[in-house]
Amino acid sequence: MRKTPGAHETAATAAKGALAAIGNTPLVELTRLDTGCCQLFVKLENQNPTGSIKDRIGLSMIEGAEREGRIKPGDTLIEATAGNTGLGLALVAAQKGYKLILVIPDKMSQEKILHLRALGAQTHITRSDVGKGHPEYYQDIAERLSREIPGSFYVNQFANPANPLAHETTTGPEIWEQMQQRLDAVVVGVGSGGTLTGLSRYFARVAPELQMVLADPKGSILADIVQTGAPRKEAGSWLVEGIGEDFVPPNCDLARVKHAYEIDDAESFHTARELLSREGLLGGSSTGTLLAAALRYCREQTTPKRVVTFVCDSGNKYLTKMYNDFWMFEHGLLARPHEGNLLDLIV
Ligand code: PMP
Repeated sequence: MRKTPGAHETAATAAKGALAAIGNTPLVELTRLDTGCCQLFVKLENQNPTGSIKDRIGLSMIEGAEREGRIKPGDTLIEATAGNTGLGLALVAAQKGYKLILVIPDKMSQEKILHLRALGAQTHITRSDVGKGHPEYYQDIAERLSREIPGSFYVNQFANPANPLAHETTTGPEIWEQMQQRLDAVVVGVGSGGTLTGLSRYFARVAPELQMVLADPKGSILADIVQTGAPRKEAGSWLVEGIGEDFVPPNCDLARVKHAYEIDDAESFHTARELLSREGLLGGSSTGTLLAAALRYCREQTTPKRVVTFVCDSGNKYLTKMYNDFWMFEHGLLARPHEGNLLDLIV
């Protein structure tokens, strides 16, 4: 007969609280998309508690600052974020008792902003169409607020060493173990550069031959830097959320990246939609960029390789955007909405 757990006993496999449920995400091999002679695996970071890879750094950056004695519960944390880092921070802040102010560019999805507000974060929405140095640039506003609000702490995922460290110590080892130490390439995007830099450092030690591959939205300057050593043009704009940059963040070390692919919004969104229709996985917009780059890389190989990329966040956050035919149509990304889908008009 099975033993009934006592009131204070937890099942052996249960995480104790939401923070313990961060990381250790599943890895899935794709079976229906054309991956050439390669095997392609996706790590389901959408299965973190707030639905993205950024829960890992929300935890590591707050616990890092606590360990250094820079913050204590009750303090105010400030961050500039595309939404997902904000969600990771908001989860950890709510669990540990911190106040949180977030500065968010206005192209970010309503779902993320409503989720942040529901978690208790104070959100400050600013312009997406201005760059570094402009008074309404999201990162500059966050830095200014942290100078003006006494005792506040600017988390700064772009330069905080606890960001890449989270990936070096958790994401990298998890992948290596799940792949049973047989892995040839990892395809990543760059927002802050934390994932790229942390994984580069980890794999430089355990698998120096492994190729780090960059997936970059068209309009970002990073792919150009990998391909030519310097950006050839000014940054443009793109609709994919969470990746692509108009500068190289201090946390972004491109040294180990030898291959980079530029992917436009249409290819990113259509690839994410294909991941759902063919493989049954509901990823976000940056997942589409990563997967499109990973598929191009796989199809170019002439010898079999084992490749890993990420479902960085959940497609639930984008149901009214790239998964909505009318939104796609309005943005010139779909020829014609499906007939009979008129309910979409009221979304
Ligand atoms: N995908 C999504 C959806 C993101 O929000 C982010 C981070 N902004 C990334 C990918 C990129 O991760 P990193 O900051 O580690 O470069």
